Amino acid sequence: MHNVNDEFFNRYMEVLVDCLKIPTIHQPETVNERQPYGQRVAQGYQWAKSLGEKLGFNIIETPGHALAWVLGEGKDRVETVSHMDVVGVGDDWSVDPFGAQIMDGKLYGRGTQDMKSALVATMMAMVYIKENNIPLKHQLRAVFGMDEERTMEDIGHYVSQEGQPLFAFTPDGAFPISGGEKGALMWILKSNFSHPKLIRFTAGTACNVICDKAQLIVRERLAFVMKVADGLNVQYTATEIEEGVLVEVFGKAAHASVPHLGHNAIVDALNILRYIVIDPTVKALYRTFIDAYGHGFDGNFNHTVMGDLTSGLHVLRIENGQLYGEVDVRYPMGVDSSALTTHLQELLRDIEVTLDYDARALLTDLGNPFIRECIRVYQDYTKDRESLPLISGGVTYAKMYDGVCVPYGIKDPRSSTPMLAHQKDEYIEIEYLRDILKLMIDAMVAIANV
Ligand SMILES: [Zn+2]
Repeated sequence: MHNVNDEFFNRYMEVLVDCLKIPTIHQPETVNERQPYGQRVAQGYQWAKSLGEKLGFNIIETPGHALAWVLGEGKDRVETVSHMDVVGVGDDWSVDPFGAQIMDGKLYGRGTQDMKSALVATMMAMVYIKENNIPLKHQLRAVFGMDEERTMEDIGHYVSQEGQPLFAFTPDGAFPISGGEKGALMWILKSNFSHPKLIRFTAGTACNVICDKAQLIVRERLAFVMKVADGLNVQYTATEIEEGVLVEVFGKAAHASVPHLGHNAIVDALNILRYIVIDPTVKALYRTFIDAYGHGFDGNFNHTVMGDLTSGLHVLRIENGQLYGEVDVRYPMGVDSSALTTHLQELLRDIEVTLDYDARALLTDLGNPFIRECIRVYQDYTKDRESLPLISGGVTYAKMYDGVCVPYGIKDPRSSTPMLAHQKDEYIEIEYLRDILKLMIDAMVAIANV
């Protein structure tokens, strides 16, 4: 096990603070050929490039999309892959999201959990290995991509330029390791739709977030709306406004991959609406998406290792005669996504259903020697031999490699720290950062010497 002294840890913290202060959010209005994800992400790219050069690493670039710090001459390579980009911030933070403020042993900022702490840990592991002249059997790279949160085509470009490594891990999940990821698809629903009683239906912010609030405006008596809604098990408010009756229906937001942690307001809103408009399309939508495990479209499927298919209609807008919806599905191995799409098209005949995005399911062989080394490093360091390899419903860069990349860390399965990725007041505990840094050093040395 490698030892990290306070001086080295402080160097890590300084670099991490610098990184957190760059607001690496995709910015469409400043996209151009040199900065394919906009000016702010490009700033993060330049920062990682200059720092690597200053520290004496060879740099490999897929210009604007991804870059790698490189160590060692081995003809085969292994690598870590991390993302520099972060998701946007709302205006409800109680600290500066790009201030890298420290309070009560916690470091605050967008990206502290997802995933700049881990990205900088892989940078500093490279520095540690270089400064201590640790021998490497394979070439080792720390790769930094710039567009994980949106398209992942950044790493797609990198992999097609550089080819597949022997093995890679992305510290963008949880320990001890992820043995697989469910497939993820998005269906888009479109149709003409109008009904004299429905003025507007607005719900959902993103396909991968369970909707916590649906709003509908109907031409109906308030008393009737309340009678309907009171008879259903839904949380709502109804008020008379100029246009009609405004109904707000409340659910609970959660990531699409964990429906048991959320509650979809759209389903409850459709439940109310189907009694007001008596319409086959509304009824069909309600029936098809009532259940978060695909029962409504015969998509329910359980894989003994990978678990259940999950699904949800998470965006729905009906106005000006148009209906638009987005459905998220996470599916285990064994599900045929194109057959499922055809089946849905048959079920929803009045609606145009398109498969807009589809990333296949991955399942890795846990007996793979690189994976065994990663698990051994985690177990040796933490003494945690109870936590089992997991299957994630999330989508990471692992999807962009040909089965040779797995999520490894950095969430501690035993920790009670809330998951704050993509949420306000994101933070990470400073003491935990020490563990992360040491784990990344040990794991990177280990995989480079398998
Ligand atoms: Zn991430």
